[in-house]
Amino acid sequence: MKVTQHIENAKGETLFSFEIIPPQKGKSIQELYDNIDPLMEFKPPFIDVTTSREEFIYVNKGNGLLEKKLTRMRPGTLGICASIKHKYNVDTVPHVLCGGFTKEETEYLLVDCHYLGIDNVMALRGDAMKDEQSFVPTNGGNKYASDLVSQIYQLNQGKYLHEVMDIDNKADFCIGVAGYPEKHLESPSLQTDLKRLKEKVDAGADYVVTQMFFDNAKYFEFVAKAREMGITVPIIPGIKPIAVERHLQVLPQIFRIDLPEDLIAGVEKCKNNAEIRQVGIEWAIQQSIELKAAGVPVLHYYSMGKSENIRQIASQIF
Ligand code: FAD
Repeated sequence: MKVTQHIENAKGETLFSFEIIPPQKGKSIQELYDNIDPLMEFKPPFIDVTTSREEFIYVNKGNGLLEKKLTRMRPGTLGICASIKHKYNVDTVPHVLCGGFTKEETEYLLVDCHYLGIDNVMALRGDAMKDEQSFVPTNGGNKYASDLVSQIYQLNQGKYLHEVMDIDNKADFCIGVAGYPEKHLESPSLQTDLKRLKEKVDAGADYVVTQMFFDNAKYFEFVAKAREMGITVPIIPGIKPIAVERHLQVLPQIFRIDLPEDLIAGVEKCKNNAEIRQVGIEWAIQQSIELKAAGVPVLHYYSMGKSENIRQIASQIF
């Protein structure tokens, strides 16, 4: 079922969902199941599975030389979506990227999704590769998420990239896109970024999931501005609990988001990791209570593959 249908069927009740990351190549899927199992009691109608693009690694040739190779460290998004859908009878949302994929490869992926009965996809541009200054579109790939949304929208109309065919079974993907309450790091202003978001919705996106934020006021302002701009689709807040002290540096650095002073002070007072995790859980609970009271359609948690803190938060909210 489509994410938007789940929201409609909930009739104003806030739903619970979360995002997982495929394991590294060579690791078992069992660890993923072990982390999903405790969250199923909160009845997520859908689970997102991220996709990571290719990256360069250096392979030791054994003769003192290193060879640069391109590889994907966490493949398997679609396989995981299919296995979770089958095992838990839940909808899954594979993340589909512009970066690292030609339009043809994207089309094949979407055809696979359709055959697997996957009704939702999250359309994202992806980030620059680690050794690149800025995002470089893949040769023959989509440049912006809005282009990818257009490609998926076209497929929903039965229009494939090249062939003119007799279509008797059209795809009908519900399309999610990313939104940034504190603006995307490359965007010159929040207003410009919102214009870009509107373009994604106009191209066919059905709902938005936000980047993590730690101050709910940022989300509420973002939603108000998006509505003023004519964006009417559901805007689902993304919540990430702080789990380690390093998050105080890396989250602002990677995502260009601000952390509230009270949260920083709470983490700095902690004597060990267990205390930091607890501060992160308490903060996310307070965020979730306020967002739920405001009637958000879904509370979407970034699990980063570990679920115990999400379980503790959800047990207070759902
Ligand atoms: P876009 O919407 O294309 O925007 C990228 C930048 O380009 C923005 O600054 C925007 O303002 C600007 N822009 C857009 N259109 C135009 C235009 N026509 N002209 C000029 N500028 C323009 N990354 C992954 O690698 N894998 C994942 O699974 C993943 N999941 C995510 C899930 C969520 C909910 C979120 C919020 C992010 C996720 N990301 C993921 C990260 C995402 O790929 C990065 O944030 C990326 O840098 C931007 O992606 P986007 O889809 O928002 O890009």
